[in-house]
Amino acid sequence: MVSRDIVQSSTGAVPVRAESDVLVVGAGPAGISAAVSAARNGASVTLVERYPYLGGLATGGMVLVLDDMHNDTEISVRGLAMEIIERMHGKGLAVFPPDPDRDPKVRQSLEMWQKWARWGVFDFHSHSLPHPIIFAAAFDPDGFKQASLDMVVEAGINLRLHSWFCETLVTDGAATGVAVESKEGRHALLGKVVIDATGDLDVAASAGTDYDQGSFILTTVSRMGGVDTDEAERFQFDEPDRFDEIDAGAKKIIRGSWNFWWLKTPLPGVVWLNCPHMTGLDGLSVGDLVKAEIEGRRRIQTLLDYVRQHMPGFENACIVDFAPQTGVRQTRLLKGEYVVQKSDVMKRVHFADSVCRGRDYYTPYRALLPQDVDQLIVAGRHYSATPQAQKTSREIPPCMAMGEAAGVAAVQALNAGVLVRDADVAVIQRQLRAQGADPGDVPAENALIKEAAE
Ligand SMILES: Cc1cc2nc3c(=O)[nH]c(=O)nc-3n(C[C@H](O)[C@H](O)[C@H](O)COP(=O)(O)OP(=O)(O)OC[C@H]3O[C@@H](n4cnc5c(N)ncnc54)[C@H](O)[C@@H]3O)c2cc1C
Repeated sequence: MVSRDIVQSSTGAVPVRAESDVLVVGAGPAGISAAVSAARNGASVTLVERYPYLGGLATGGMVLVLDDMHNDTEISVRGLAMEIIERMHGKGLAVFPPDPDRDPKVRQSLEMWQKWARWGVFDFHSHSLPHPIIFAAAFDPDGFKQASLDMVVEAGINLRLHSWFCETLVTDGAATGVAVESKEGRHALLGKVVIDATGDLDVAASAGTDYDQGSFILTTVSRMGGVDTDEAERFQFDEPDRFDEIDAGAKKIIRGSWNFWWLKTPLPGVVWLNCPHMTGLDGLSVGDLVKAEIEGRRRIQTLLDYVRQHMPGFENACIVDFAPQTGVRQTRLLKGEYVVQKSDVMKRVHFADSVCRGRDYYTPYRALLPQDVDQLIVAGRHYSATPQAQKTSREIPPCMAMGEAAGVAAVQALNAGVLVRDADVAVIQRQLRAQGADPGDVPAENALIKEAAE
């Protein structure tokens, strides 16, 4: 049901194809969570996505470990992030270490390291070796696509795939909807609250909000199949000197990777390559994205020849696929009502208006709110943080937690008849707890307390 047939966009009148309480743009981890959370709280929801699948970088970008959700003492991101892990685990498409609450000393044993390191479920922030094993989940991208689609369909969300956002519709300083381009031509989708979950701040930037132009490494992610992972792990742990030598040769070809350039996935013999990382490229520039595609593929093809010849376990390796989406970590970042600083993340600063957490840091509701546009909430990797702070606070589970909080906030504001910036944070926190999320309303013992009013 739409109350208006047409609205004005910058190119003239466009037909209205949907109207709902909450309009979420971008169906990556943050957008899916925002939409599901709002719909489960009773709102009518439209979810817009340019690609034919859900999941953003978690699926199309083939980023295959859900991490940054466990600190030394507890799992700090729960709610929808945990639900999706459980749904995938039920189908054998997510793998995680048991007993996350175990004594940190046990989690740091050599035995645990050798068993779990190649799943990528270790604390890479820790300086001690071996790194402690933490709760994180290695998963299959199609498993994530299916589980999130199930959640969206079950929640009765109006899903608009194949639709490229192109313009935010703003009336009297408030976002009222967006215009999208599609095979059907340009049309409008309206919402009483709009949630920008595009990762690149497309909606808020188009609405005229202030933002910072961040940038970070770009990665063309891929998967190799036909790998004997048992043999590859045996070689690494039983023959460390030879392994180091051959691995150094691989890294010379890749020219940019974390220490482990391959990790296991739930599919037997299929490994995830989170590499090569490339610097000096802008994730919003078509030219740079094309450069990354050409150069990334070139390096991985050379790597394949090398590991087939030299690396035990990789003799029969082949390339399964390159991720359909380029691995862009950071572009535009909102300059919102509060800008999260690196010291806030590193020192675990606690905010009274915290609505979600990552590993051991807290995100205030103000960091999801633009300063100058009403009825717009921002959730995901483009949230209001400095480029340095975002680098260590943008993993998938914290983005899902932000989306979940944004969905609750939108509904709370609509129910109370107030602007989203005036939503009652205590009510949002209570509702998030009631639905199994951790809003970070209760500071951990080692948190640094900061007042919301500053
Ligand atoms: C190479 C790489 C490795 C990473 N490693 C890890 C890791 O190991 N573990 C981890 O937890 N995190 C990791 N991250 C970070 C994580 O993947 C992202 O920060 C996270 O996915 C952000 O979620 P999001 O929903 O904010 O944005 P995104 O995942 O970018 O989703 C945004 C969505 O919006 C859609 N969209 C964008 N623009 C438009 C438009 N104009 N119209 C319509 N739709 C649009 C996109 O198609 C996408 O679906 C990694 C990131 C990269 C790039």
